Amino acid sequence: MPENATNNPELKSFVPYDIKDGEEYMNDGQLEHFRQILLKWKQELMEEVDRTVQHLQEDANNFADPADRATQEEEFSLELRTRDRERKLIKKINEALNDIDEGDYGYCESCGIEIGIRRLEARPTATLCVDCKTLAEIKERQIGG
Ligand SMILES: [Zn+2]
Repeated sequence: MPENATNNPELKSFVPYDIKDGEEYMNDGQLEHFRQILLKWKQELMEEVDRTVQHLQEDANNFADPADRATQEEEFSLELRTRDRERKLIKKINEALNDIDEGDYGYCESCGIEIGIRRLEARPTATLCVDCKTLAEIKERQIGG
């Protein structure tokens, strides 16, 4: 997958960071850029979670017809999975925001190299560089298969 921000379906909109020549990696401007992206993303996800909860509550009041129950239960479990996914993502976003505060953001947690602005824009919660991520995925596949 090319390192392009538009490939991230989760992030609806942001302006890519304008990297100047010789600019220091993860300077204040860059950190602020990612802080804003993460905060906006979190906001969108939290609104999404609210909508899911609301929808579940509305459905729960509507159990009159037993014939609809199976369909409703399917919808429920689908929505609960979505909500679980959103919660996990919000947790990752919080961790990334914490990393920004701690000054750890943007560096591979495995090998310590710079993850890179464009990769982070495509995946603001990334904690591994491309190489380490690829290795981790290969290992995961080997264990999984
Ligand atoms: Zn690495």
